[in-house]
Amino acid sequence: MSEVVSGRNLIEGRWTPALSGAVFARRNPADMDDLVGEFPDSSAADVAEAVSAVADGAAEWAEAGADRRAEVLRRAADLLEARRAELTAELVREEGKTLAEASVETTRTPLNLRFHAGEAHRISGRSYPSDDGGLVYTWREPVGVVGAITPWNFPLNIPSRKIGPALAAGNGVVFKPSPVTPLMAQRLVEALLAAGLPPCAIALVHGGAEAGAAVAADPRVAAVTFTGSTATGRAVHAAVGPSRRAQLEMGGKNPVVVLPDADLDRAARIIVKGAFGLSGQACTGTSRVIAVDPVHDPLLERVVALVEGLVVGDGADPGVGMGPLAADFQLGKVLGYVRIGQEEGAELVTGGRRLSGGGRERGLFVSPAVFTGLRPEMRLAREEIFGPVLGFQRAADFDEALSLAADTEYGLASGIVTRDLGRALAFARRSRSGVVKVNQPTTGMAMNVPFGGLKESGTQTYKEQAGPEMMLFHTQEKSVYLSPPD
Ligand code: NAD
Repeated sequence: MSEVVSGRNLIEGRWTPALSGAVFARRNPADMDDLVGEFPDSSAADVAEAVSAVADGAAEWAEAGADRRAEVLRRAADLLEARRAELTAELVREEGKTLAEASVETTRTPLNLRFHAGEAHRISGRSYPSDDGGLVYTWREPVGVVGAITPWNFPLNIPSRKIGPALAAGNGVVFKPSPVTPLMAQRLVEALLAAGLPPCAIALVHGGAEAGAAVAADPRVAAVTFTGSTATGRAVHAAVGPSRRAQLEMGGKNPVVVLPDADLDRAARIIVKGAFGLSGQACTGTSRVIAVDPVHDPLLERVVALVEGLVVGDGADPGVGMGPLAADFQLGKVLGYVRIGQEEGAELVTGGRRLSGGGRERGLFVSPAVFTGLRPEMRLAREEIFGPVLGFQRAADFDEALSLAADTEYGLASGIVTRDLGRALAFARRSRSGVVKVNQPTTGMAMNVPFGGLKESGTQTYKEQAGPEMMLFHTQEKSVYLSPPD
C-alpha cells in the first residue's frame, strides 16, 4: 500500500491544520480501502486567515517585476516536470484517471505555467493622442487578491490555468481546490514554493462548500475565478456581486452532429474518445450524438462495438481504457441517470451497470453506457450527467440536427463530423457554444486559444481562461492623462 499523506493548509507560509482540527479523507476510487490522505476540512475562519495573509502580502509580489514572476513560474514548471512520473502515479491514485490521461495532464501543466510566464512580460497598455501636447496612456496592474476555486477533474491543469496567470500578473492567490483531489493541489503549491514564490503570495485552503463560499464572499478577494458546476457557479456569482470580478467556467451538455457523408468508423472513434475519456468526467465531454438519417443505426452499431471493447479497471494498469468514477457521489449520480433514462423511455443499448469482478469490487467502476431514442424533453437529453453515459438522437436532416444541437441551456462545446466543408462552416457559424470542433472530439483544448462557455456554461464577462485574453481578468486597466508641466 502506498504512502498516506497528511495534508495541510498553507497560510502565511506555514503548513497548518484547520483551526477546528477537522479533517476529511480522500480514498483511491479504484480501491476505496486505499487511503490517499487526510486533509484539513477548513471552515470560513480558516479562509478568513488565509485571505488576511495574502491581502497583507500581495503588494510584495506585485512589486516583484516581470522577470522574477516569470522565473518562478518557469522553475515551478521545471520542478513539476522533474517529478512527472511520480505525479502521474499520484494523480491516477487520487482521481482515478488512466495512466495515459494522467500523463497528458502532468505534461500539460508545466507547459501552461511556461506560457503564463511569458504573459508576465506581455502585460501592456496603450497610448492615445492628446491635444495639449501631453499624453494619455493606459496601464494594467494586478487586481490584488485572486480567489481560485477549482473542480477535481483536472486537478493540476485547471488550477495552473488560474494560478499561473494570476501570479504572472502580480496578484496574490487564495486557492481552494476540490476536496476530491486535495493532494494534487498540495503538489502544485509545493512546486511553486520550491520555485521561489514568496509564501505571502499564495494560500492553500482545503475543504468543501463552506470554504469555497467563504472565498467567494470575502470582500478582500478582488476577483474570483471558478470552475465547476453551473449550480455552484450561480452561487459564486451571487456572492461576488457586481463590484468584484467573477470568472465562471461551468457545465456542458455537448452534442456531436454526424452527417450522412461522414466516415462512420472515424466518427465512432471521435465520439467514443470525447464521451468516455476521463470516464466521461470532462466538462467538454460528448454527451449527445445527433445522427442524421440514414447513418443513425450503422453509427450506433460502431459506437457500441468500440464501447464494449473498452477495458474498465484501475487506471494504474496500462491496459485499461477507462478508469473508475472519481467519487461515491459520481457513482450514485451516473447510476441514477441510467435509471432515469430507462424510466423516461430511452433505450439502453449497452452498459450502465456497476462492475465488480476482476479485482474491481472495492472500486467505483461502471460499464460505459449508450442510450438511443432520446427525445429533446428527456432529462437525459437536457441535464449534465458528467459521467460515461452517451445518448443518441435521430435527426431527419441537417437543419433538424442543428436545432437539436442548440436545444440546450449549455453552450460549452459542440462538434460535427462531415466531409462537407460548407456544412461544417455553417455549423460553426450557427452553433451557440464557445468551442466548435470539426472532425475532432469535443474534448481537448489548446492553451494559447481562447476558451470559455456561452449561455449557462460561463459568465459572459472575462470568459476566456486560456489564450492571451485570460490576462484581462487578472489585471485592471487605468487611464492616465498627463499634461506637460508649465
Ligand atoms: P462543483 O461545482 O461541485 O465544485 C467546484 C468547486 O466549488 C469545488 O472546489 C467545491 O468545493 C466548490 N464549492 C462547492 N460549493 C460551493 C459554494 N457554495 N461556493 C463556492 N465554492 C463551492 O463541481 P465539481 O463536481 O468539482 O466539478 C464538476 C463540474 O465542473 C461539472 O459541472 C463540469 O462541467 C464543471 N467543469 C467545467 C469546466 C469548464 O471549463 N467549463 C472544466 C471542468 C469542470
